[in-house]
Amino acid sequence: MMELRDTYGRTFKTLRVSLLTTCNLGCVYCTMGDPTINADKKAQTPATVFLDQVAKLHAQLNLQTIRFTGGEPLLYRELPAVLEGVSKLGIPEIKMTTNAFLLDRMAPMLKEAGLQSLNVSLDAVDEEVFYLMSKREKVEKVLKGIDSAIACGLEVKLNSVILKGLNDNQILPLLDFAFQRDIPIRFLEVMAMGHLHNQGMKYMFPQEKILETIATKYNFTRQLRAPSATANYWRTSEGKMFGIVANESEPFCQDCNRLRLDAQGNIYGCLSNNNPVSIKNVVAREELTQKLQEAMDQKQKVRFTGSELSMLHIGG
Ligand code: SAM
Repeated sequence: MMELRDTYGRTFKTLRVSLLTTCNLGCVYCTMGDPTINADKKAQTPATVFLDQVAKLHAQLNLQTIRFTGGEPLLYRELPAVLEGVSKLGIPEIKMTTNAFLLDRMAPMLKEAGLQSLNVSLDAVDEEVFYLMSKREKVEKVLKGIDSAIACGLEVKLNSVILKGLNDNQILPLLDFAFQRDIPIRFLEVMAMGHLHNQGMKYMFPQEKILETIATKYNFTRQLRAPSATANYWRTSEGKMFGIVANESEPFCQDCNRLRLDAQGNIYGCLSNNNPVSIKNVVAREELTQKLQEAMDQKQKVRFTGSELSMLHIGG
């Protein structure tokens, strides 16, 4: 199979599929609790449409990983069908990113349908800070969901976006929550996306500050970064690992291998790009190659340059 590569040798091996743009949280970085953003709740793209598009992309790209995201993927009604469908396509790694609010009761079904790994977005373990970040009460539902997923044998990782003045006091509690369960955790620098496009810096809590905070409790050493990884990793003297996704401080575009597909049948080669490339009505292989090339040409050379699209739409 001929591989599509850009001049930096980058490929598309990971596909992120945004199943819907609706979410049950209103996080500061996505919607800031604005209910109008979640207005189109009812209509959802059928699983058969996603599976057809993913099959076409896989036939051409020989994907290694598929990650379902959104919006909130646990709100997608045909989730079991879509997971079972991609399992049959033979994509080796099937993953999902979720806020885990509904995970407690859904975890066994996800495992049964073929899901292997979950990234849970958790920005606070304290109830008040959780509300400040997500405009939603009951962090205990999320924490319970995480424990259910671990109990089911799903691989669970935590992702925590740290916003200055809002949840930077949660770095150590989040770290301890992850260490107690022996699950990986990564802290994320905020990206200038959506309504934060021109004010992302207002909330910036950089890698250096995150490390300073962790150093008040732990000793750690930096680890080598794996190819295509989004995070830098450190190991504490107790042998526990944590990561930081330093979009701003240490951009990692050079070896990005990600392609995104949204619920309208558009692909995006880069988070910095607002221009969707539609594959909705594409049938011929040559035309799909051309569309993939267009998406490949969107890739930034060095760093994320900001986007007016919220991750809610393009898929986090
Ligand atoms: N609802 C799911 C969830 O919460 O995991 C999946 C979609 S959500 C858009 C995925 C994740 O993208 C968020 O939880 C957050 O970690 C990340 N995200 C969204 N906007 C971001 C921003 N402006 N900067 C950094 N991370 C962001």
